[in-house]
Amino acid sequence: MSDCIFCNIISGAAPCHKLYEDDHVVAFLDIFPSVLGHTLVVPKKHSNNVLGLDPHEAEAAIGAIQKLAPGLVKAVGAEGFNIGCNTGAAAGQVVHHTHFHILPRRSDDGKRMWGQMDPKPDLDALIETIRKEL
Ligand code: AMP
Ligand code: ZN
Repeated sequence: MSDCIFCNIISGAAPCHKLYEDDHVVAFLDIFPSVLGHTLVVPKKHSNNVLGLDPHEAEAAIGAIQKLAPGLVKAVGAEGFNIGCNTGAAAGQVVHHTHFHILPRRSDDGKRMWGQMDPKPDLDALIETIRKEL
């Protein structure tokens, strides 16, 4: 057994409701879904978050999302989906094994993923600050 719950799911040591698996990625239903069909796409090779994700694994994960999302959305009667990748505790990351959330969405589901800042920040000043750090 690993300390990492997703590594344990990948190795078969812990159970999951699996939708899909290939050489690089596994996808399973989130155990505490935010919406119907909430799915996690998880690269098999452990990295703590997306900053440490091997680019080839990233490609495989996006490929899996493209493969799975249309059928998933159809199966739960949704119309679109969000992809989420929480990075760091401040962003809500709880499981420190890189994963992508697929959240099937309906126009009438009442969920609001992105709010707008009020007041709006000074974007001219902000872009200068950001560029200095890149
Ligand atoms: P995050 O907040 O981005 O780290 O998301 C972690 C997600 O993993 C949460 O939505 C949890 O509900 C989900 N989760 C944690 N443990 C399991 C598990 N054993 N099987 C399926 N989903 C899990
Ligand atoms: Zn892991």
